[in-house]
Amino acid sequence: MRRNRQAKILATLGPGTSSRDAIAALFEAGADVFRLNMSHGKREKHRENFDTIRELEGVYGRPIGVLLDLQGPKLRIATFVDDAVAIEKGDRIRFDLDETPGDKTRVGLPHPEVFQALKPGTVVLLDDGRVSLKVIDCGDDFADAEVIAGDELSNHKGLNLPGVQLPIAALTEKDRDDLAFGLEMGIDWVALSFVQRPEDMAEARELVDGRAAVMAKLEKPSAIDMLDDIIALSDGLMVARGDLGVELPPEEVPGLQKRIVRACRAAGKPVVVATQMLDSMVDAPTPTRAEASDVATAVYDGADCLMLSAETAVGDYPSEAVAIMDRIMSTVENDPLYDPMAADAEATSADAISAAARQVVHTIGASAIVAYSVSGATTLRAARVRPEVPIVGITPKITSARRLTMTWGVHSVRTEDARDFVDMVNRACSVSKEAGFVQAGDRIVITAGVPFGTPGATNTLRIAWVD
Ligand code: PGA
Ligand code: MN
Repeated sequence: MRRNRQAKILATLGPGTSSRDAIAALFEAGADVFRLNMSHGKREKHRENFDTIRELEGVYGRPIGVLLDLQGPKLRIATFVDDAVAIEKGDRIRFDLDETPGDKTRVGLPHPEVFQALKPGTVVLLDDGRVSLKVIDCGDDFADAEVIAGDELSNHKGLNLPGVQLPIAALTEKDRDDLAFGLEMGIDWVALSFVQRPEDMAEARELVDGRAAVMAKLEKPSAIDMLDDIIALSDGLMVARGDLGVELPPEEVPGLQKRIVRACRAAGKPVVVATQMLDSMVDAPTPTRAEASDVATAVYDGADCLMLSAETAVGDYPSEAVAIMDRIMSTVENDPLYDPMAADAEATSADAISAAARQVVHTIGASAIVAYSVSGATTLRAARVRPEVPIVGITPKITSARRLTMTWGVHSVRTEDARDFVDMVNRACSVSKEAGFVQAGDRIVITAGVPFGTPGATNTLRIAWVD
């Protein structure tokens, strides 16, 4: 089975999509990779969904990626006696370390590090920016703030401090436990939330130790300031527009989306555009025109992957959302104005071969590129040049095949490594034929490292006729 689309779809699972039928429906509608969101749901449920995905892999005969999204140091207030309080502009409210339920005058904020970072004048946002306050006075264990805007506060609402870099670790206790749980299960990707600095990624890499690919979610302005260093330490990036759009004025997000996508494209690392892409489809069967345009723009920008959050996790139309996203994306990819921009080759043999493969495909009208790569690293370089035909990524490692489900243009296939040159050609032809990309009489362009089994040694380009 193959998809007629190059950019990928990442669908978040949730209460609305936790059955085998629902996950199968999402996959059939076009989801290439699934997100288990550790901010919500019980571990047992995540494990059950994980097992279902692995089982469906066998049914469909396709690698399906799984991304474990860690909650990260998401700050939240504690609770209120009556679960919620009405507030208005000019009200004063105290935040403190006392976790007993609050009222109109005070509420718990169980994060001592926050009090260290606050100053009089600091703006505090709550409930995704629906409530804003200004700090008037503060100390080591309290802050008095005045309401600037908003009309209600309720239990456990999230808190953002725009532009403030907090002295907190990237991974909380819960994140470490969740990560161990995910790695033990065998997840393919792990995403770190609220990355603030490159050191956060370095720390995560050390913990993960190659057992999964590591994605940085860009949702803090301080991370944008060190974008290139963070990309260098990540296997993939997410433009997390939800929290980014709370921390920064919304008008800055579209430009940043383009900037982040371009930086990732240049680095050859997959980039996901996330949040509210088809948000109205949480309770409507069709998207707004603006949402269709937003999905299309992310594809025109050159993103590898687009994410659905609430649309598939809790929405009333999960598989419809995937199907519509799939249609919008394919339509863009067939538009003559769509130009996914080949990144310039760096001075490596993998890049030289990838650039040549792209050119050869164009010159002779070949139908597919078949890239042999154990780790998938060379396949990523092939995707980086955005060839005009699909890339069949052959790898002997199922983990590499699954990680590649996040990457633009790649149809990954796990099969044994080629034994010799003749086997390499035969296998490339039969795999791409079976997958439905080519038929007898077509030509393919094969890239590989010869002798086989030597990592990082892509040195060969072969044109072959399919018979
Ligand atoms: P979230 O991340 O859905 O985990 O909050 C994405 C975002 O903030 O956009
Ligand atoms: Mn977020």
